[in-house]
Amino acid sequence: MKTVLIIGGGVTGLSAMHEVYKWKKENQSDVRLILVEASSELGGKIRTVKQDGFVMEAGADSIVARKAMGMSFIEELGLEGEVVYNDVGISFIYLEGELKPIPTDSVFGIPASVESLAKSTLVSAEGKVEALKDLYLSNNQFTKNDSIGDFLEYFLGKELVEKQIAPVLSGVYSGKLSDLTIASTLPYLIDYKEEHGSIIKGLEANKKKFQGGEKKFFSFRSGLSTLINAYEMKLDDVEIYKNTRVSSIEKVGEHYQVVLANQEIIESDNVVLSTPHTAAEVLFSNQELKNEFGKLKNSSLISIYVGYDVPDEQLPEDGTGFITASSEELACNACTWTSRKWKHTSFKGNLLVRLFYKSSHPSFVELEGMSEEELLEVAMQDIAESLGITSEPVVSKMTKWNDSMPNYLITHPKTVQALENKLKESYPGILLAGCSYYGVGIPDCIENGVRTARKIIEKL
Ligand code: FAD
Repeated sequence: MKTVLIIGGGVTGLSAMHEVYKWKKENQSDVRLILVEASSELGGKIRTVKQDGFVMEAGADSIVARKAMGMSFIEELGLEGEVVYNDVGISFIYLEGELKPIPTDSVFGIPASVESLAKSTLVSAEGKVEALKDLYLSNNQFTKNDSIGDFLEYFLGKELVEKQIAPVLSGVYSGKLSDLTIASTLPYLIDYKEEHGSIIKGLEANKKKFQGGEKKFFSFRSGLSTLINAYEMKLDDVEIYKNTRVSSIEKVGEHYQVVLANQEIIESDNVVLSTPHTAAEVLFSNQELKNEFGKLKNSSLISIYVGYDVPDEQLPEDGTGFITASSEELACNACTWTSRKWKHTSFKGNLLVRLFYKSSHPSFVELEGMSEEELLEVAMQDIAESLGITSEPVVSKMTKWNDSMPNYLITHPKTVQALENKLKESYPGILLAGCSYYGVGIPDCIENGVRTARKIIEKL
């Protein structure tokens, strides 16, 4: 009898297991299926917490609809009736002590028309004039391997980039614009420059592509854990071990001995390693493999929810949240007005906000060592300063994601390829999967789980 062992019960491991499980049922196979998860609950970076009439997420809060809707997991798990979409509204940038709207006619903060630039309240008249360079300067020097920051600044000017574009783009791509290439962010901008002579005009001509419609993100009525619970319910013929940490893996002949923290050993022919790369690295004694894992990088983030016993009407009309432009003004990088954006998160329509503190912020070093009480003080100060709300919160929930947000460096694809090659050579029955390697978005993780499972199925 063959065995498939999946280490890590996050959404990647679960989707991989679900795919193998379906195959087992369809083919009436006797393959033994085992899923091992270190913590007491499945879900990894997906975990919903319900408290005092609020639905909060420890990690991910939504799924990009554009990517997920072509996939089959919602129907397969019977979740069609549970899906809820975000409410759309205006996003703000907190700049110079004020909340200023990101022009609606913009893409990642980049104006998609001259009118959008003209109407922006984020940039001075001089900044706007400088941005008009884009209309007459042509591109002779930038290729897709150059930094997106340099490219945008050259054509659109420093002020527009600093105050309107960088806050949005750095948030989406987790990094300084100077460290990110055009290729890994918005490669089409260089084509637009070529075809239309201007980034702004190119965006204007392609506007339709960026109008995703109203329903851009979705979650579930009872939060994202619904997805995890649905997977778990389906896997009735799988041995699921929670509170079970794998501590090492040894290759013995054609098999693998997976050693658990309690010294128990599980033998398996096929192993999927869908833990974060930092957890995968320590399982091997092979130094070359460890060196490659060491080249992958993570950053940190603290998420703080604060809920109030007051209606959310006191927030700016139609707003759904803000991003901070300058690290000198607030300690947070962004604040989502959760009860506005997601109706299902607040039963009574009371105010719930979520603040994000990232390790890229200079004050993060200080925050890392703080207690929950101290962190709540920082959050309340940010809320008071940006939103003018000084009421006592009725609920707060914080999660520290220490060294656990994957950062895909320019060298990322090369490192992943090297890891795959080394595993094939020394541990051919072990496959890597998950957010450390193949995309961080939930749809990417699910897709990667399915793809990994199919590779194993071929061998069963
Ligand atoms: P993980 O969820 O990290 O799962 C890995 C599992 O392995 C964990 O359960 C862990 O306990 C287990 N494990 C580790 N070591 C061992 C061991 N030795 N033995 C056994 N088990 C082990 N994505 C979106 O699409 N939309 C969002 O809105 C979004 N927001 C996010 C917000 C935050 C704060 C965070 C942290 C992430 C967010 N993401 C979002 C990203 C997304 O949540 C993750 O990329 C995805 O959930 C990762 O799934 P995974 O299964 O690959 O890894």
